[in-house]
Amino acid sequence: MTEQNTDRPLCPKCGAAMTPIMYGYPSSISFDRAERGEIVLGGCVITPDSPDWACRTCRTDSDDDIDIPSFMPE
Ligand SMILES: [Zn+2]
Repeated sequence: MTEQNTDRPLCPKCGAAMTPIMYGYPSSISFDRAERGEIVLGGCVITPDSPDWACRTCRTDSDDDIDIPSFMPE
């Protein structure tokens, strides 16, 4: 079994694995990771409605209207 994107929710629109959004002032490491497509930079302003995931395929932001696989104990 390979562990590939198993911890990522799938885009409700196109089904691609979504990319985590990193908030806060981006460091050079953050820019490198964003360029490699590992993360999406969400900017410095965080609101309660800020989404946690973004789809790089169809540019959908999503927060709680998708089913995130639950690997965490309740
Ligand atoms: Zn998508």
